[in-house]
Parts: sequence; C-alpha cells; structure tokens
Amino acid sequence: MRFDTVVIGGGLTGLVAGIRLQKAGKETAIVSSGQNALHFFSGSFESIGEPSRDITELFSESGIRLHYQEGVRLMPLGTFRPSALSLEDISLFPKEKFGNKLLLVNIVGYHDFFSSFLSQGLEEADMSCRIRFLNLSDMGINAPGEMRSVQLARTLDRNWEKVVQEVRLLLKDDDTVILPQVFGLEDGSIPGRIRQSLPAQVVFVGTLPPSVPGIRTLQLLKRRYEVLGGTYLMGDEVVQAHLHEGVVHSVVTKNLGQHYLEADNFILCTGSFFSKGLASTPEKVYEPIFGADVSFPPERSDWYNPSFAEKQPYLGFGVCTDAHLKVLKDHTPLSNLYAAGSILGATHPELGMGAGMCLRSALKAADSILEA
Ligand SMILES: Cc1cc2nc3c(=O)[nH]c(=O)nc-3n(C[C@H](O)[C@H](O)[C@H](O)COP(=O)(O)OP(=O)(O)OC[C@H]3O[C@@H](n4cnc5c(N)ncnc54)[C@H](O)[C@@H]3O)c2cc1C
Repeated sequence: MRFDTVVIGGGLTGLVAGIRLQKAGKETAIVSSGQNALHFFSGSFESIGEPSRDITELFSESGIRLHYQEGVRLMPLGTFRPSALSLEDISLFPKEKFGNKLLLVNIVGYHDFFSSFLSQGLEEADMSCRIRFLNLSDMGINAPGEMRSVQLARTLDRNWEKVVQEVRLLLKDDDTVILPQVFGLEDGSIPGRIRQSLPAQVVFVGTLPPSVPGIRTLQLLKRRYEVLGGTYLMGDEVVQAHLHEGVVHSVVTKNLGQHYLEADNFILCTGSFFSKGLASTPEKVYEPIFGADVSFPPERSDWYNPSFAEKQPYLGFGVCTDAHLKVLKDHTPLSNLYAAGSILGATHPELGMGAGMCLRSALKAADSILEA
C-alpha cells in the first residue's frame, strides 16, 4: 500500500500532522497502536501563547472550541495551575479566588471525583464551600462506584437537563457551582448549555482518567482526519522499518504483515516512554522502530530525580532531529523521516513543551514535508 506520507502514532501530534497534510491534498495513513496522552488530558495546552491562526482554524474546523486567557485553572485535588489555551469547558480565572460561596456537587457512590480534597483546597484559597451529593438512580445509574468518567458521561449527556434541575434544588445563595467533568463526551456543547441553564458560575473539574474532554478531542480530530480522506489504522502497530542509504522505504505493521506501508515521507509521532515511543534498558534509552539517535545523559543516575515530586530529567529525553525535524540516525538526518510531539522531549526548547509543543512540532513537520 502506498501513501504520500505515513504517520506513525495517532495521538494529538499524529492527528494534527495528518489533518494538515490531508488538507493540503496529500494522501496519508496514520497507524495507531492504542491509548495516548489525550485519554489523560487536562483540557489545557501547556506552553503555548495566543494560538496561531493555523491552530485555531484546525481546531474549529474539527468542531473543537478553544478559548485563550492567561490565568489559573482549578486542578482535581484543589490546587491551581497557570494555564492559557484551553478547551472551552475549562474555566480559567485571573486569580485563585474566583468566588465567595461555592456549591460543590458530587455523585452518590462515585469514587473518581475527590470532593473533600477539592473543598479543602478551595477553603485554603479563602472560598467557602458546601459539598452536596446527587442521587442518579432515577437516571438508571445505580452503581456509579463501578463506573468510569466516560461511562457516566454517556448517560449524563442524555440527562443533563435533569441534572440541572437537581442542582437548582441544591442551590441557595451560592455564586459558583462545581461539577465533575463528566459531561459532553459526544456533544461538546453540553457543558456550555449547563452553564447557561444555571443562575451561578459553573466550573467543571477533572476526575480520575479517562478524561472526558480529552477523549472527545481525540474523537473529533480523528473524525476530521477521516472526513478529509485520511486512513486511520486503529489498533495496528509499526514493528519494523525498511531503510536503505538514509531513506525510509516502508514500514511493517503487526496487522498488515507482508503488505508493507510505503510512502514518500514518514512522521514519527509515537510519544515518549508513556506510549512506548521511547524505551530503555539499564544501559541506554532507545527509539524502537528506526534506532534513531536519542538525547540522554550517559550516567543512569542522571536519568531521574530520586525525589518523586521533583521535575524528572527523563521527561526531557527525546529523539534527535535537525532544524526541519528530520530524524538523525548515527548523527546523520534520514532524508524522509520526521519526528514530532512528545517523542522530541526537550530537544527543541524553542517549540515549548507539553501539548503546545506537540501542536507546533506537528505543524512544523507537516510543513517541512509540504515545502520540500
Ligand atoms: C498522562 C499524560 C497526560 C498529559 N496531559 C497533558 C495536558 O493536560 N496538557 C498538556 O499540555 N500536555 C499534557 N501531556 C503532555 C503530552 O505529551 C501531550 O499533551 C500530547 O498529548 C502527546 O501527544 P503525542 O501524540 O506526541 O503522544 P501520545 O499521546 O503519547 O501518542 C503516541 C501514540 O503513538 C502510538 N504508538 C506508539 N508506538 C507505536 C507504534 N510502534 N506503532 C503505532 N503506534 C504507536 C501510541 O499508542 C499512542 O497512541 C500529558 C502527557 C501524559 C503522558
């Protein structure tokens, strides 16, 4: 099977690169072996200032609403984190104290939303907070303790108006309602409709993974990519590559076997250790598909910080590339293999970090291909 470009890895980076190339008229395939960081996404894109027009257009054409405001967002354990570019459901505040009287609404029996930690954090930020519980048995939810966020969201999206009615009954003179982020799995307009229907500011706060807004974002980007004609090979894995004299000719996948995927260009978006884009032995850190050069310190004791809470050096390890994001192997760029996203680690500080770096590097790799 032959394509203009084969993208390896179908998380945020692979999808953004694939959409960019499809939109430019290229024929592409994305091979994606499984779970990616969007399943854990907070909804805020780290390290990106006001987004470029390219990024806002790509997201709005995919049906994803973003907003940009420099401020802080409320984290699941009641702490705050500086944030700017975010999905529309994420509330951003100019300062930590964002209300006076808060009603924190949890669900009877649900274990994945930490209302007592949250309320403690809110009290510490000088806001008074009442916790109340919704009983969802009327909506057919009888064992929420056995449900993850996405399962709850599937039912609550059909019943969000009933939830609003129940919350109204709990409201007194509160100026803010805090709800778990279990709304808007398929339809991203539901959090906004809940906000419009309640006479108080509504703040959605993350639950334990999977992330409802992250999975919605993944589904919408994938849908957009497929509408543009892209081929998304879900649940397949690239296991080998054929290279000759610095050129990648094809890759082999688990499911397609002898039907190699051939292309003019390839983009490596397989993520970091978390997604097995990088792997390690006690002696070395390596990139498993192409054997690309990886930047990491030689002494193993420098790989991690023994204090778990400190910044971990291994998060900065990444595949080495040239300025066009062409992957280096034995210190020489491969002519048609690019890398983007979290597999780059901190090798390109000018691109930032986190999801902001993923967006920038995905567009840069796609543009390098289009301009070549
Ligand atoms: C748990 C977690 C939470 C995060 N949350 C945030 C956040 O809230 N905000 C933020 O700014 N940043 C966050 N980040 C940083 C994160 O790296 C980026 O946000 C971004 O989503 C990473 O996208 P990616 O596509 O580069 O990699 P990934 O999302 O890791 O995707 C890589 C994909 O490649 C696939 N893959 C790997 N090997 C192969 C193979 N051989 N063949 C085919 N497919 C393969 C994997 O299965 C995976 O689907 C988070 C990172 C992690 C690990």
